[in-house]
Amino acid sequence: MRGLSRKELTMKIGVVGAGIIGTSIAYHLGKAGAQVTIFDIGGPGDGVSSKSFACLNAFGQPAADLPFRLEAIRYHSTIARELGSERYLHITGTLRLGTVEGEAAKITANAKMMREFGGDANSLTGSTINELEPLVQAHRPIEGVSVPEEGWVDAKGLSRRLVHVATRNFDVRFRRLRVLRIGNDGLKPWVNYDLGTDLFDCVVLAAGSDTNPILQASNLTPFPIKADPGALREVPCHNESRGLGHVVYADSFHVRPSDRGGLLAGISPLVDDLQSSDRFEKESKAILDTGAEWIDRFAEMPGTPVLGIRSVTADELPILGRLEDANHIYIAVMHGGITLGPLVGRLVANEVVNEQASDLLARYRPSRFGNNATCAPATVSSSEDRRVAPMGPNASVEVQRDISLLKGEISLIRSTPPAPVWLGDTIRQSLAHVAEQANIGEIFRAHRFRGTEPDREAGAGWIAGRLGTAPAIDRMITTNGTQNALFLATLATTREKKVIAVEEIGYYAFRNIAALLGVTPRAVAMDHDGMLPDAFDKACNDGNVAAVYLQPTVHNPTAYVMSVERRQELAAVARRNNVQILEDDVYGLLPENSPIAISALAPELAWYATGPAKCVAPGLRIGYLVAPTAQAAAAAFAPVSTVTTWHVSPLVAEIAQQWIRDGTMGAIRDAIRAEVRTRQAIAAATLKGADYLSHSESIFIWLRLPSDTTEEKFVASARSRGVILRPGSMFWVSPPKQIDRIRVVLGSPDSAREVRSALEVIGSILH
Ligand SMILES: Cc1cc2nc3c(=O)[nH]c(=O)nc-3n(C[C@H](O)[C@H](O)[C@H](O)COP(=O)(O)OP(=O)(O)OC[C@H]3O[C@@H](n4cnc5c(N)ncnc54)[C@H](O)[C@@H]3O)c2cc1C
Repeated sequence: MRGLSRKELTMKIGVVGAGIIGTSIAYHLGKAGAQVTIFDIGGPGDGVSSKSFACLNAFGQPAADLPFRLEAIRYHSTIARELGSERYLHITGTLRLGTVEGEAAKITANAKMMREFGGDANSLTGSTINELEPLVQAHRPIEGVSVPEEGWVDAKGLSRRLVHVATRNFDVRFRRLRVLRIGNDGLKPWVNYDLGTDLFDCVVLAAGSDTNPILQASNLTPFPIKADPGALREVPCHNESRGLGHVVYADSFHVRPSDRGGLLAGISPLVDDLQSSDRFEKESKAILDTGAEWIDRFAEMPGTPVLGIRSVTADELPILGRLEDANHIYIAVMHGGITLGPLVGRLVANEVVNEQASDLLARYRPSRFGNNATCAPATVSSSEDRRVAPMGPNASVEVQRDISLLKGEISLIRSTPPAPVWLGDTIRQSLAHVAEQANIGEIFRAHRFRGTEPDREAGAGWIAGRLGTAPAIDRMITTNGTQNALFLATLATTREKKVIAVEEIGYYAFRNIAALLGVTPRAVAMDHDGMLPDAFDKACNDGNVAAVYLQPTVHNPTAYVMSVERRQELAAVARRNNVQILEDDVYGLLPENSPIAISALAPELAWYATGPAKCVAPGLRIGYLVAPTAQAAAAAFAPVSTVTTWHVSPLVAEIAQQWIRDGTMGAIRDAIRAEVRTRQAIAAATLKGADYLSHSESIFIWLRLPSDTTEEKFVASARSRGVILRPGSMFWVSPPKQIDRIRVVLGSPDSAREVRSALEVIGSILH
């Protein structure tokens, strides 16, 4: 958080669902200063909110919920004034009428309870009922109560108004998109929809009866929610009377003025053992039959059946709170949502933005179902249950496995980043997008050489932050990866002298590149801040050193990030000895805040190489090389310009360009960064007391082994318990006799859970 309080930062929140619940939450989030995106397949309020009886009711609710309901009804008036939407709100009062024995007794008891909780409930006689509602036939002995605070609302009108006011006054936008999945890789939740994926600080799932299908598609634990069809009957108008003034509940039948000036009638849900289709049919018929008992010739009035799907939880209470199996995902689903929506919106927004749990919501937490859901503010460890795992038939795209792994083995050797679960979908969408381009044929026919100008412009924008400013594109070569960039830079700088200075411990593959080119690496002493300037100076004494290879930002394998002072000192030594600098910044784009690249401190000497392998995906075979000058870049590329294996692949270059321009590259990097932080936090907790070097945004750690073991024994012991490690010796230019370090990659396992399991094995071998 870089010293800023949560409130000072703009929270980015995605709300899935624009029913009364989603729109109320989005409105209040926007009002609280959050940047909100609402997603819905249709328009605001088009879901069950527009197919609801939509009575604002508290009468008959259990004592534990009554105060909440009453406050919710009262809040409707506040929000209507705030939005200027009074025309949708009808606090007409309800009439509660009972003729059958059980119903009448219930009405008496409920009226008493209502009064105990500070609500009004006034007894009615038969004649008063007739006066109040001449349309209702109340000729039988009857128990009657009026509840003046209750009424009804045009829920679709209110939902639309909430979106209208929020999008005009706050940082809220509405996107008409179908959400496919939601999830969380590490600390950043995301919403995956038909056309792409957006990252947020929090995602609120308010998708009504689609809540469980979305959770299931997202590999998250569903809740015991029944999608219960409910029938209403809308009667367009009633010519023979002045219509209704109240909402009337008469035994199991209920009726109110409709949003369009006619009547809307419903029935209490019928007994439970009905199939969904039977229920709708039987309830529709029961509305006609019982309606006819209360309203003259009701069954003969032309009308339309309306089907709405209730989301009824196992205990019939709302579910409101964060999920534990997915950090920063908040669920809001309920029956009775028209009554509760606006107040719930205010309380949920406050919980999400200010992380203050509301006592009023304590009864409705997801955790009561005993699955892994809770209201507690998100914690680092809670994300580990969420597998960063493949889904769907093409899942292998998203997983980086070691081919040689046996079942159950976990490999911590490949320095690859974790993959967000939505990466596969994003790749598929990007491939489709490239395929749709009008000039697709041309793209595949033309040689790309060192990258087209748009390729290099996109790359320059991507690395500008590391170099202080975007490099001129004539200094750039687009390559097939960072190693290719390093190869070209080594080739370019070692034409005469054949020695490159390297740190005594470092990236072994660079030494392999040097070997291919007949170049000798000269080991230079280092400390925890990288290569020692004096030792470097000394190494240059014989005048044979052509260049120095440095990886100053998250050094592989020790994970140090070199200080700016050391960068300046090394640049000064290089300048004094006329030695070129080969800067490998492949890890430099992952940390949120890294010191500026050494290439920016000595641009006249420096060759800057990077690519997305460690912060996006190694399979995106692209890299960027920035030479000291345009002439140097042209000369570096000249020897390979006719060797087309050195040309960047057109398909990959097109995707990289697109991803940089539309922010996908940044979104993937952010998701990986968040997951890496989580995995580092797991390492800190699991390897407590162990001696290792690392950085909170590094995909590996450099672990010291106990003095009573050897590297071989340690690696073998881990392997025997299913954990595959890479020996530390391969990172030394000249390995000492006793190797006491190994590199442990946290990025390569599929999930944070696997990282924890593997680290637990390592921890037990260490102790
Ligand atoms: C017959 C009946 C009578 C009722 N009577 C009352 C009453 O008298 N009083 C009361 O308070 N409540 C009543 N209710 C309940 C009330 O209508 C609901 O609780 C409330 O409307 C729920 O609002 P919501 O925002 O959760 O759901 P919805 O209004 O259904 O909103 C969910 C939204 O999510 C969107 N969505 C779903 N899946 C996706 C996806 N994959 N991608 C993008 N968007 C998606 C949908 O398009 C929808 O707009 C009644 C319900 C029924 C069916």
